Amino acid sequence: MIFRQLFDPETSTYTYLLADERTREAVLIDSVREQFERDVALLEQLELRLVFALETHVHADHVTAAGRLRERLGARIGIGGKSGVRNADLLLGDGDWIAFGSHRLEARATPGHTSGCTSYVGDGMAFTGDALLIRGCGRTDFQEGDARALFHSVRSRILSLPDATLLFPAHDYHGRSVTTVSEEKRWNPRLGLAQGEERFVALMQGLGLPYPKRMDEAVPANLHAGLAPAAPPRAERVAELMDEVGRQDAAQWQGAGI
Ligand code: FE
Repeated sequence: MIFRQLFDPETSTYTYLLADERTREAVLIDSVREQFERDVALLEQLELRLVFALETHVHADHVTAAGRLRERLGARIGIGGKSGVRNADLLLGDGDWIAFGSHRLEARATPGHTSGCTSYVGDGMAFTGDALLIRGCGRTDFQEGDARALFHSVRSRILSLPDATLLFPAHDYHGRSVTTVSEEKRWNPRLGLAQGEERFVALMQGLGLPYPKRMDEAVPANLHAGLAPAAPPRAERVAELMDEVGRQDAAQWQGAGI
């Protein structure tokens, strides 16, 4: 098995490359549009053929490169069936799997952060998206977020895996890269086995997190595999532009509908 963990520093997003050494068939999980050329170059250098571009969910913080990877390399796009993505090639349900060479990844429905969240499990590893982060979890206050659903997803579909299973999240904001089932069962302050459901639900409801900076652009684009035109800027973005270019120029920009 060939395995690489790639990082986008702008959004703290991990992209994972998995490939079969013999057949050279490769899978990318959670690609990032701004890292498209980096990932294409790595695939070329390792002499790999991208067969699947998988998404753990419709991201709110970055735009996926999946659509571009399909256009350039012919990869098939796979995402959870409840994600709402209309132009995916594979809408994966719980228990579905994809194969690359002699390897398999099983799709496990892990809703709660979004309703379509899917974790991918194979070769002693699990790619958990934003369902389970290292010592944390994804937020549940937008995009069909449901703390109760997340609690049960993580407990029944991720923390039920063998203790030594390596868990790779979609993000980490503290410099960590990987964890294990046993570590999270013991040390996750939200979803560890010592924590109860009611406490978790109350905690998630009280987080008071800010609105994601790129959500208005990322979600509509990701519902079309990253290929949709950018959403029109929100009022805040216009205000930012005015600060950047000065009020006189900004008046022209607004007039142009940017
Ligand atoms: Fe997310």
